[in-house]
Amino acid sequence: MKSKRPTSVITGAAGFLGSHLTDLLLSRGHKVIGIDNFITGSVDNIAHLAGNKDFRFIQQDVTEFLFLDGPVDYVWHFASPASPIDYLNFPIQTLKVGSLGTHKALGLAKEKGARFLIASTSEIYGDPLMHPQREEYWGNVNTIGPRGCYDEAKRFAEAMTMAYHRQHKVATRIVRIFNTYGPRMRLNDGRVVPAFVSQALKNKPITVFGEGTQTRSFCYVSDLIEGIYRLMMSNHPLPVNIGNPTELTMLQFAEEIIKATKSRSKIIFKPLPQDDPKQRRPDITRAKTVLKWTPQVPLAQGLTKTIAYFRTKV
Ligand code: UDP
Repeated sequence: MKSKRPTSVITGAAGFLGSHLTDLLLSRGHKVIGIDNFITGSVDNIAHLAGNKDFRFIQQDVTEFLFLDGPVDYVWHFASPASPIDYLNFPIQTLKVGSLGTHKALGLAKEKGARFLIASTSEIYGDPLMHPQREEYWGNVNTIGPRGCYDEAKRFAEAMTMAYHRQHKVATRIVRIFNTYGPRMRLNDGRVVPAFVSQALKNKPITVFGEGTQTRSFCYVSDLIEGIYRLMMSNHPLPVNIGNPTELTMLQFAEEIIKATKSRSKIIFKPLPQDDPKQRRPDITRAKTVLKWTPQVPLAQGLTKTIAYFRTKV
């Protein structure tokens, strides 16, 4: 018999998204077992949970066998390097956690009769030829390029998840996460939000890659986590995009950050990294229909909170 209060296992619990998910689940009455090996996660993200009886932490690489006592109701597989710099630095770990780690996490869910959710990504669409991206789109990925280790690991993870769903009847969910920002992003993770905000706060040049015409659409972390929670609690086994469809060029984004920080920074241009997607915006029709979810936090409001966090870090 399952315990009355649900137990959730979160891999990558010390990461940016994993730690916010941990907080949300604890606030909704879950007991949480967090797992992380700290290759890109940080103990600072979960330090506030020290002494919380509903939170247990295990330092482990989730590509190794996961053994846990007791019942588990939900497995949320969030462990992975997730910024272009991180997966360039850890290409093999990125491939392993998306493949072997997903296999272990699915095995745990199967063993416990738990529901499983994989944190997939808009990167599975590669440099997309369909815009905005709908879940039906199969993507345009360079398997052997520098981003291939992440993109293909996540594509494999989706395939493995569907195989467990079909073969073993595990209740599975797939969220495709688009660019997300907020407190607890790592200052030096190379992603555009920490890069631009920290440059702006130090009045240093803002490094726009390429001509800055490439687009992204940024979702505030609380919106994203709410969407993911609703997906887990839904009955929908097929992938769902979660993201904010407000699309900006990177040049516009740099200008927004300068304005929001009241910075004296100037914009400079640096070479565009290989295979950098030219445009990205989620079609969130499915999330709206199936989950009754839409993002609530406008960019200006989300940036204010994010900038306040980074002020304490730079
Ligand atoms: N970018 C930029 N300057 C930076 C860091 C990133 O212009 O200092 C651009 C990058 O080329 C990409 C976009 O910002 O087009 C988003 O990059 P990020 O690394 O945040 O994530 P991605 O969406 O590419 O996975």
